[in-house]
Amino acid sequence: MEPLILTLEQSGLPRAWVCIEEAITYHAKHMVIWSAGEHVCEYRGGIQNDGRRSRIETQSILTLRGISGAAHRPAVPALSNGLLFARDRQVCAYCARRYDMHDLSCDHVMPVSKGGRHTWTNVVTACRGCNTKKADRSPEQARMPLAYVPYTPNRHEHFILRNRHILADQMAFLLAGVPRTSRLHA
Ligand SMILES: [Zn+2]
Repeated sequence: MEPLILTLEQSGLPRAWVCIEEAITYHAKHMVIWSAGEHVCEYRGGIQNDGRRSRIETQSILTLRGISGAAHRPAVPALSNGLLFARDRQVCAYCARRYDMHDLSCDHVMPVSKGGRHTWTNVVTACRGCNTKKADRSPEQARMPLAYVPYTPNRHEHFILRNRHILADQMAFLLAGVPRTSRLHA
């Protein structure tokens, strides 16, 4: 699998993961202010007049000009099961065991029927057995204490959770922006 390129806003905030072709387009349009990280790609374009293939390199981290601002930046990443299971390292919040993705479910700590909300701080990863056992009760009512506390991932962590094939230098950059309280540091 080809690695993705991490693009940053001019302010230094992560902007998007892009494919190599899109990264090459930013180079071609002179939108790259600076780049860092390893050289991940040697793009081979068409055959040139001298018979050689054209080659363009890109690095793994690109800062782009002209793209910034809050419009691109949702304050809180959208909640999805995939991101939730990644945040929780596929570990059930009740039995504390690790499961495959397809054996996991989203549990509302305070059930929706009891006024709990579908937000990052009220959802945890639960195996199907624990989810069924807990049913429509709070952890206290079910006598099933949480093995960890749910939290809202910040932007840097969101970028880590979304990509399962992150290069070492991209990971180092992103981890530096993740709060110490994140389980990514555990
Ligand atoms: Zn469980």
